[in-house]
Amino acid sequence: MRPLHLPRAVCQRPWRLPPCRFLTSTQRRALSSGEKETTNTQQRLNALTPKWEPFWNNEWSGLPQFKENAKEKAYILPMFPYPSGTLHLGHLRVYTISDVLARFKQMQGYRVLHPIGWDAFGLPAENAAIERGVHPATWTLQNIDAMKEQMKLMGGQWSWDRELRTCDPAFYKHTQRLFLMLFERGLAYQAESMVNWDPVDETVLANEQVDANGYSWRSGAKVEKKMLKQWFLKIKEFQKPLLEDLDALAKDGMWPDRVLAMQKNWIGRSEGTKLSFDIEMDGADQTPLESLQVYTTRADTLFGVMYIALSLNHPLVRRLAERSEPLQDFLNQAKDFPPDSKEGFLLPGVRAKNPIASLVDDEDISDTLPVFVAPYVLDDYGSGAVMGVPGHDTRDFAFWQQPKTSSSGSVKLDTPVKYVIHADPPSTSSEAIVHTTKDQPTLDKGFLASKDARFHGLPSDEAIEKIIHQLQQAGKFAERTENWRLRDWLISRQRYWGCPIPIIHCSDCGPVPVHESALPVELPDLPASFFQGQKGNPLADDKNFKNCTCPMCKKPAERETDTMDTFMDSSWYFFRFLDARNEIELVNPGIANAGMPVDIYVGGVEHAILHLLYARFISKFLATTSVWPEGSKALGEPFKRLITQGMVHGKTYSDPTTGRFLRPEEMDLSQPSTPLIKGTNIVPKISYEKMSKSKYNGVDPGATIAKYGADVTRAHMLFQAPVSDVLEWDEEKITGVQRWLVRVLRLSKAKWFPVSKHDLGAFRPPHDLDISVITLLRYLHKQDKLHTAPKLFPPEEAFFNALHPDEMVLLAIVHETIVSVTKAYTETYSLNTVISDLMTLTNAVADTPHRSALTPWFKWYAMVHLLRMAAPIAPGVAEEAWQTLISSTNVYFRKDGTHPLRSSLNTDTHPGPSVFTFGFPRADGDAIPKLKPTRTCVVQVNGKRKFQVDIRKVPVDVRDSDQPSMRMHALEELLKTEEGRRYLDKEGGVIWRESETKEADELYPEVPKGWTVLAVKRCGLVNFIAPKKRKEPKEAKEVKGDQGKDGEERWVEVSRPRRKHLEGWGSRPTQGKGQKKERNKK
Ligand SMILES: [Zn+2]
Repeated sequence: MRPLHLPRAVCQRPWRLPPCRFLTSTQRRALSSGEKETTNTQQRLNALTPKWEPFWNNEWSGLPQFKENAKEKAYILPMFPYPSGTLHLGHLRVYTISDVLARFKQMQGYRVLHPIGWDAFGLPAENAAIERGVHPATWTLQNIDAMKEQMKLMGGQWSWDRELRTCDPAFYKHTQRLFLMLFERGLAYQAESMVNWDPVDETVLANEQVDANGYSWRSGAKVEKKMLKQWFLKIKEFQKPLLEDLDALAKDGMWPDRVLAMQKNWIGRSEGTKLSFDIEMDGADQTPLESLQVYTTRADTLFGVMYIALSLNHPLVRRLAERSEPLQDFLNQAKDFPPDSKEGFLLPGVRAKNPIASLVDDEDISDTLPVFVAPYVLDDYGSGAVMGVPGHDTRDFAFWQQPKTSSSGSVKLDTPVKYVIHADPPSTSSEAIVHTTKDQPTLDKGFLASKDARFHGLPSDEAIEKIIHQLQQAGKFAERTENWRLRDWLISRQRYWGCPIPIIHCSDCGPVPVHESALPVELPDLPASFFQGQKGNPLADDKNFKNCTCPMCKKPAERETDTMDTFMDSSWYFFRFLDARNEIELVNPGIANAGMPVDIYVGGVEHAILHLLYARFISKFLATTSVWPEGSKALGEPFKRLITQGMVHGKTYSDPTTGRFLRPEEMDLSQPSTPLIKGTNIVPKISYEKMSKSKYNGVDPGATIAKYGADVTRAHMLFQAPVSDVLEWDEEKITGVQRWLVRVLRLSKAKWFPVSKHDLGAFRPPHDLDISVITLLRYLHKQDKLHTAPKLFPPEEAFFNALHPDEMVLLAIVHETIVSVTKAYTETYSLNTVISDLMTLTNAVADTPHRSALTPWFKWYAMVHLLRMAAPIAPGVAEEAWQTLISSTNVYFRKDGTHPLRSSLNTDTHPGPSVFTFGFPRADGDAIPKLKPTRTCVVQVNGKRKFQVDIRKVPVDVRDSDQPSMRMHALEELLKTEEGRRYLDKEGGVIWRESETKEADELYPEVPKGWTVLAVKRCGLVNFIAPKKRKEPKEAKEVKGDQGKDGEERWVEVSRPRRKHLEGWGSRPTQGKGQKKERNKK
């Protein structure tokens, strides 16, 4: 314990100052405007996080740790970083969001786990090693240390005791165990696969490492395609639940729609039809040809098929290539084509037959179709063959437009594109099927056009059914089927800096898993010099690593030298955080049951597909094992709620004429509002773009934190944009939140309380800060601070009525803010609106005029709530302000050890309990309508309900029995409303039109002479009664109005004499003929 010493002045100031220093006008002015931010302010703000951190760490030992079988857990996790060595603003944004949510949950009483670790394997470390001769481990650990220091500055509260690094053998031992579990289940297998091969570096490259022209990003070599034996994980085995469980994640917006759509698209289930096309071949080759199977989602376009295209590795292509040199040449070149190439080669002498041609009476359907080999056809989609329908498919259309290669040179296809599906039902079968003028395909389903009357005009879906039926009837192959885009996960990497695959290859036994007791298979500790200029896979070159004995037959064998894709590490690390020091298991099953799934997962949308899909797959797999026994309860889904944050874009200057990006030193920023290019009068173009070295628009979060402090940086980051939007980082705008936080600090120092010991005693805050408003008012009443009528046993309403409207507004804003901020922290995650709501509340505290002795008390109370709501965002400022605020109460003064605002340890010079120990404020939703300065007023004319409007409440000092004041208030307020004016306006108001006289009433000129105005239930009901016409009316009952519980509205059912009694309450006698008579009688 190392309690922090507060400067004595701060603690003692409240009772040293002269009395009656509630907000004076000078003070208010100082608070509300013209706060000139000085370097001093910045210095003060940026000192707060370091000032309070030791207090949080020592006195209050951080977030409570989360234990097995915890009832209310909240596992908040940001995607763990790759240790690049520098923390950028994107990191800061993720960690700010997760830290804010973790602190909020902690204040709400959850047991929070908010861990951080390092996705520490990967290519950049290895490349640094190759370039600089530094060991990848050294490079990685240096980077982790550097980033950790930067992270500590941002004021995050992390469960550091669970920190993990995926490159630690203690971690990757379990990654290997996971691999073996998959292997034993038959979910890890080896197969030949086409890879990107860099012939210079002798290594496999990921797709992202090959540029658009097919060159290696590093060596610059032309990348080759090569068949290599690779390790795969059978993610396809889980494709159905991976797809179907997206529905559960969609519920209540738990996952963003965009991510769900991307996952769905990646898994890519489509319903379609398998069809088969017979082939004919010219020449002497009499080997029977198998018909070509194609898969299509649009069998309704079969009438419009113009060609067949095969993938480069289709068996028929391979066979033909054996005796066609031009074809072989084409195939060799095709390896270098960009992925979206629309090149094609016409297979010589091969034709395909449209299976429907012979079954329909429509000569427009080509009976024989050219067959191409085309790189745009994927080997593994369908069966490596597609039917080409240029009229109704974008890629087919593009393919058809391009000249093609053939054995005899280039060929141009001049047949016009056929369109067979029409948006509207075609009228006659003679309506043109072939259109030559269109310059694009039509993709939507519609109606089939054909000369065959049986098919003509069929909607697409019916056409599909009919086509399948007809083909099957004729004994041809046609089958409804589904197709998945998802491919098994290739995890092999021929690199050093990854988790070794724990397999031993034995010439007799095949691939044999490394025995449990021999795990981890550790990376050999090669000398740093080994890496410099190294080509290929260092593991494959290290005989000590590679040569081993077979665990089964004990004969010499070879260790697998591939390492795992780093996505494998991140597919399960969130399990490990729950039980990070467990040596024998990935995670204890009881702890996995208690801790999974992650409640809130925060990260960049760039991980919307691969990482999240792999993590979902591995979790679903673990849910079928003893690792996560109760995983099926959560459908094996690892992340309950996913928050994807947008990127951070930097302010970018460029030359308006050349478009060249400008370096900071080329800019004249002496006048921030009008930047110029140095030495010229040229105004640069300003844009916000992804931060990159080439655009000179990067921002160092460390520098920003050093300058403004962690709290201001965090708040600015959250305030500038909704969490999921791009954040345009503009440092000039930071003064907005800076001013707000300064104001919060100043308000916490305002002299809310009277200073004499005697008075102070009377302002004792309640023990429970979150009591309901009515309980608070009763408490103040009991302390003789709130005066109600009647004094004894006042009804609930009397307590509210005893407040000045401005005080009511302040209390209402407090509770409305709690409602909206809690909602934003728990449901919408619109953290930018949290800040704007808190700014509004801050202004309300500052601007509410001093209306009674209670006003400052309510302001103090509003601050108690405000600081607790701001604490997750700006912990340093909130703690500083909190300590000042609570030190200004009498509990501090009295050394009252029993009051919760005062910990048993603190003395005058020690801080009180942390703001974080008081929990998050609870809203009193019931009180909000009662605190409104307005009330609903129902307006009747002659007892008939006409409309209702909100009007200002009757001032507290007007007694219920004071009818004239009630009436005046009602008329005044109603005239402020549009509805009221519709009735009361002298020129054409309903009441005036109905009236016989245009003469205004003497006392109430708003109504015509002779009308009676009744205002009851403190203007909850206002009735305008027309003067009786001519004859003395009967003892007619008045129309019923709302009957109040308290009997206040007995008037609504009064008969004549009763009404007279009411008039006697203060309404002036009416001037109507009959009444006059009656009055005269009186
Ligand atoms: Zn063996």
